Amino acid sequence: MRVGGQAELLLEPTSPEEFQQAYKTCLERGIAPYILGGGANLLVADGVLPGVVIGTERLRRLFRPGAGGESEEESLAQMPGEFDMALPSGSMVQDDPARDPRLVVWAGCTLPALLRAARDLGYSGLEGLVGVPGSLGGGVAMNAGGRWGDMWDVVESVRVLDADGEFKDVARADCTPTYRNGGLGEEWVVGAVLKFEPKPRLLIQEAMSDYLRTKNKVQPVTEWSAGCIYKNPPAEDADGRSAGELVEQSGAKELSCGDAAVSERHGNFIVNRGKARAADVFELMQTVRTHVLDATGVELEYEVKRWMGDTGEMGAGASRPT
Ligand SMILES: Cc1cc2nc3c(=O)[nH]c(=O)nc-3n(C[C@H](O)[C@H](O)[C@H](O)COP(=O)(O)OP(=O)(O)OC[C@H]3O[C@@H](n4cnc5c(N)ncnc54)[C@H](O)[C@@H]3O)c2cc1C
Repeated sequence: MRVGGQAELLLEPTSPEEFQQAYKTCLERGIAPYILGGGANLLVADGVLPGVVIGTERLRRLFRPGAGGESEEESLAQMPGEFDMALPSGSMVQDDPARDPRLVVWAGCTLPALLRAARDLGYSGLEGLVGVPGSLGGGVAMNAGGRWGDMWDVVESVRVLDADGEFKDVARADCTPTYRNGGLGEEWVVGAVLKFEPKPRLLIQEAMSDYLRTKNKVQPVTEWSAGCIYKNPPAEDADGRSAGELVEQSGAKELSCGDAAVSERHGNFIVNRGKARAADVFELMQTVRTHVLDATGVELEYEVKRWMGDTGEMGAGASRPT
């Protein structure tokens, strides 16, 4: 969105162990930190956000099991430990259908980098996430996806930091991800083991290009946004209409607040035309929601996460000075 203020304190761990250390240090001091991925689905208050933000941007690594010479089980089990970097970005690898089609991915690996790596290896399953920004951690937490598939379609297990800051491995069978919710609650993604289907690279690329073309036609991909603002309501509550259709039908597509405006291209996107503040975006989100409720009787739920600091306000005046 390119709105919002600064973190009072920002920690950027470079390994799972540092992530754990940062998180435990916060817990010991009675601080519940914010966990930041790519920030692609976030609205952060203007001014200074009090407290600690732990950003995963430097936890970018991605591994193939067994690439370091150890047995596959060992390398999967030691996810936060030392591995050989298996896949430099842009590397050319041969399709090999016999290869174990799994990847071990740390939380901060970007979704575009992950999709490129999977394509280059001939691993199919995440093509539907083409054009979705953000990180593996955010994607798993939000169960990012759309009409062509969701993040959790390929998750075999997730390594999390639990409420006490201990590493815990959670198998797919023990999780209940739902629409735009990985269902992990207050557990933070350190990394995940992803399992793909082997497929020729060309077919994977073709699917990605098709999906991207379709998305580019209907979404404001070149403007500053946070993706879809509202979740699509259950079909039975809205006669099968999507959140974007409800916004359009309620006449709210013309609305704006300061430099924040409902996208002309897609009713479920709010774009920053240049100098919008978080407070403008949030006000517009609330106004559009009220419009939709009045016009259609459907109460939209926010998909975008909101970090408002201590006071629950989006304006700069709400933040505690440092
Ligand atoms: C142009 C555009 C298009 C988009 N299209 C789509 C789409 O098609 N489908 C879709 O689902 N989304 C879409 N999005 C939204 C966004 O890309 C996804 O929700 C993405 O998964 C967010 O990841 P992130 O790393 O940026 O998370 P952030 O925005 O940083 O965080 C989002 C939430 O995830 C939590 N989180 C972040 N990292 C972790 C972690 N390691 N462990 C636990 N929780 C964590 C945060 O605390 C926060 O609550 C779009 C966004 C944009 C800007």
